[in-house]
Amino acid sequence: MRTSYSALATYQQCPQKFKFQIIDKIKAPKSPEALFGSSVHGALKFMFSRDPLFPTLDEVLVNFSENWKSAATKASKALASELAQIYDESGRKMLKTFFKSNPPWNFSVVDTESRFEVLLPDAETQEAHILAGIIDRIDKIGDGEYEIIDYKTNRKLPSQEAADQNLQMSLYHMALTRRWPSISPDKIKLSLYFLKHDEKISSKRTADDLSATRNSVLKTIRQISQSQAQNNFPTVVSALCDWCPYKPICPAWKHLYTKTELPVPDEAALQDALKEYFAIKETDNKNAARVKELQEIIKTYMDAQRIDRVFDDRGYFVSKKLQQRFKYDFDKVREILFANGLADKWEAILDADEAKLKIILKELPSPIRQQISDQRVLSKEFIVLTSSLKPAKLP
Ligand code: SF4
Repeated sequence: MRTSYSALATYQQCPQKFKFQIIDKIKAPKSPEALFGSSVHGALKFMFSRDPLFPTLDEVLVNFSENWKSAATKASKALASELAQIYDESGRKMLKTFFKSNPPWNFSVVDTESRFEVLLPDAETQEAHILAGIIDRIDKIGDGEYEIIDYKTNRKLPSQEAADQNLQMSLYHMALTRRWPSISPDKIKLSLYFLKHDEKISSKRTADDLSATRNSVLKTIRQISQSQAQNNFPTVVSALCDWCPYKPICPAWKHLYTKTELPVPDEAALQDALKEYFAIKETDNKNAARVKELQEIIKTYMDAQRIDRVFDDRGYFVSKKLQQRFKYDFDKVREILFANGLADKWEAILDADEAKLKIILKELPSPIRQQISDQRVLSKEFIVLTSSLKPAKLP
């Protein structure tokens, strides 16, 4: 099995979420928090890139704002501009503080966003697995000593005990010792950097911890294999469900999202509906024709009497109102816009217009018409009901 820390963590949080995401590969839009996290990570990678000089703080901030702007517009629902602005300010604040306490020239950075793959043979099942991942940053901090840094943009600070047992950092520790076997396992510092608080929580792992990490990973992989074999991925309902993009299709929640479906009518119900439908349509048509005749009578009376409103015995009234429609002289509009340096507004007016295109198409020679028609793409599909009051010949 090829897996990653995030896949294992998802399975441990909720096997059903793992199934949606990893097995069924159901694409889900990234949350604003995840998009924000990626933008900050991108800026931090840029901050430690030396080409040939490290970027300035201003360049880092511009890099972040550009990353975030493009991420926010890609979000499933484009983020409200106020919210996008709040995230932008928060990211810039974090980066300013981080830059001040961590000027990049003070560190000996070995790699950023460092990809790894660890081969994990399982003696119990005789299978081999690959664990892949990306380490945010690796620094050399002394002779034969290294520091693995993982940036966090969330608010919650874990306890030292939780950091000591953090599986993600244990996996990174294992990955580094596999990549560079000459490094002593206890010479690797593991740091979680909480950017919101400008706080770093560090821990270490021993050689014994390495085998505990391997056993823990293999145990989860075996559980996943068992779930797959039995097609059993139970839901684990928790407070985290509120951030789960699969909530509307999750067996634990989907009833809340299911609309009551209309029952499919039988033949007799259909015949009744058709009879009533045509009766109403016929009445509607008759009424529309009669309304026109009545309007004509009323209008003739009002014109002859030179009055604008007429009342019935109950006080209901009909008014006569002059309605006007205006047309623009577009030559003049163009002249005014160009004279005032607003040529771009004229371009906006000239934007492609499908209604006009349809009229022009009729006048074009057939091969050109065909060429243009071939460029159509389906943009919207919907069902309409049409009806005829003239009965068809029944079999
Ligand atoms: S909504 Fe909750 S229970 Fe359902 S898949 Fe997501 S995390 Fe699991």
